Amino acid sequence: MNHIAVDERGYYGEFGGAFIPEMLYPNVEELKNCYLDIMHDPDFEREFRSLLKDYVGRPSPLYLAERLSEHFKTNIYLKREDLNHTGAHKINNTIGQILLAKRLGKQRIIAETGAGQHGVATATVCALMGIECIVYMGVVDIKRQAPNVARMKMLGAEVRPATSGSQTLKDATNEAIRDWINNPEDTHYIIGSVVGPHPYPDMVARFQSVISEEMKWQLEEHTGKQSPDLIIACVGGGSNAAGAYYHYLNEKNVRLIAVEAAGLGVHSGESAATSVLGTKGIIHGSRTLLMQTPDGQIIEPYSISAGLDYPGIGPLHAHLISSGRAEAVSVTDEEALKAGFFLAKKEGIIPALESAHAFSALHKIDYRREDVIVVCLSGRGDKDLETYIRYLEGGVPADSLGSAETI
Ligand SMILES: *Cc1c(COP(=O)(O)O)cnc(C)c1O
Repeated sequence: MNHIAVDERGYYGEFGGAFIPEMLYPNVEELKNCYLDIMHDPDFEREFRSLLKDYVGRPSPLYLAERLSEHFKTNIYLKREDLNHTGAHKINNTIGQILLAKRLGKQRIIAETGAGQHGVATATVCALMGIECIVYMGVVDIKRQAPNVARMKMLGAEVRPATSGSQTLKDATNEAIRDWINNPEDTHYIIGSVVGPHPYPDMVARFQSVISEEMKWQLEEHTGKQSPDLIIACVGGGSNAAGAYYHYLNEKNVRLIAVEAAGLGVHSGESAATSVLGTKGIIHGSRTLLMQTPDGQIIEPYSISAGLDYPGIGPLHAHLISSGRAEAVSVTDEEALKAGFFLAKKEGIIPALESAHAFSALHKIDYRREDVIVVCLSGRGDKDLETYIRYLEGGVPADSLGSAETI
């Protein structure tokens, strides 16, 4: 009984739907008609579970962070998605979608990527299955994200530069959509978050829901109860958050904290705090909250963390936040960087900058001593080391970052 579930037309309250060019209609319709049957098929389920276990390395641990808990005077558990193969939660979804594509008889995969993380997760599963993979990426992003471009190529994917507009994520998305229109028969489009036209947000949330499914029994082992008091997750499009919330959506006493990137400050003009700055509109095929000018032009978002640098938010999260079910918190670049250093020193874990945003929220919310808090540690920080080090060298004394008193 899931009251916060997508309806027949693909809506969460007033958000969602499928706003697509007419020529995409057959592709999206095929997916909509098949995805639930395929996902519920026992053979599919068996193959999905087996790859999550043996290839991805699931279940990911739920770790009681004792030194962090002591500092914040509460009980903090980390859901370790950073330990997955390829270093983040994104692989849960790409494994699911590649298996689905195979069952739909598709022989070609397309994806778009901004920072390259979703591109790498897609190239990985395509290599695993021996399926052709084309990743669209803005020219500017190709320059900024050279290591991920190299990874995709090594995995056998073709990285196609998107040369139009601002040459970033939204232009890559347009190119991917154009490709799908031209290749409706043999191609599946793997979207990387709980965004896009219905059924993508629901489908991706279901693939990521393994996160909260595991949390239930893991929390029971640790605490004797299946439910935490709070779940904190960062939100770019919202897929790690959707996965971490999924099995608790209808448990009103589990507080859901959605952490967005405030960049240089929510109102600085350099931010990605969509739930605060966003207005209702259509992006990437669904009606949701997005950052746009009064005449509907998308405003380029900014965050130090490439995974949160997205001008919209998945329709599930637009609904959860505007209905009051989830609480939105904004965290700046600097606050996230400090939280990243703090976690490294306190627990010996270097988080992805995206995940570091989630940790910083511990300073901005109220909680009780006896609460059980789960933070979704969506990914590892290897990819962000250069940014962390640049910050260290930017004149902030390493000592102050390392001491327990500073964030
Ligand atoms: C991509 C990414 C995110 C943001 O994506 P969501 O769909 O909002 O989860 C967060 N953390 C990491 C480590 C990522 O790679």
